[in-house]
Amino acid sequence: MATRKILGVISKQRTERLLEDWANTREDGVRRLLRIHAEEIDIPKPEFKQTVRSRGFKPTMMPSTWTLVERPDGTLVERPEGPYVEDWTLVECAEVLFVEDTVRRIAEFLRKAWDAPDQRRFDWYLWKALSIAQTVWQLFEFVDDPPERASAVEAAIFYLRHSRRRALHCANPNCTTPYFFQQGKRQRFCSTICALPTQRESKRKWWAKKHPPKEKKK
Ligand SMILES: [Zn+2]
Repeated sequence: MATRKILGVISKQRTERLLEDWANTREDGVRRLLRIHAEEIDIPKPEFKQTVRSRGFKPTMMPSTWTLVERPDGTLVERPEGPYVEDWTLVECAEVLFVEDTVRRIAEFLRKAWDAPDQRRFDWYLWKALSIAQTVWQLFEFVDDPPERASAVEAAIFYLRHSRRRALHCANPNCTTPYFFQQGKRQRFCSTICALPTQRESKRKWWAKKHPPKEKKK
């Protein structure tokens, strides 16, 4: 059976998973998110190497090998040996950090949109999330019109814009992953685990009402 895809690129189920995971991602979870959703999070890695070269900067040169040499006093020291080669470690590191930072900033605005008290703020924060992605896309190609094929990130933001009513914040104040899409009409918690304490509490109240405490016998 063919399932309808959001903007023709990603299924509804995968979109919801992506958005939930993304909004629930905090500082230390960005790498994990990028690993789990490698296919969907298509934020391209910038080519800082080219930028460095085109601006006339020279990369750091590092010796390709080091050898251990014994000094007269018997201690060992590492000596560089040629040939010297270009070292792009810092630049490559910057490329990775750039992508991670972009993903982290989008997560922040997804959360703000999810928690927005009104439609205006909801729209604003989603626009912010999309514009951050847009800024990265612009590094590669200037696009004034929507590209032929939407990216999964664009599709996800598009989906959230049209599913605001179902984008809820878990009612359990101690929940660590509170952003979820409501599946049933009365669902207030992200999971059965989060719902448990309240279930117990409401059952206790219901029980107490049904069985008012009797006079204690002495
Ligand atoms: Zn929860």
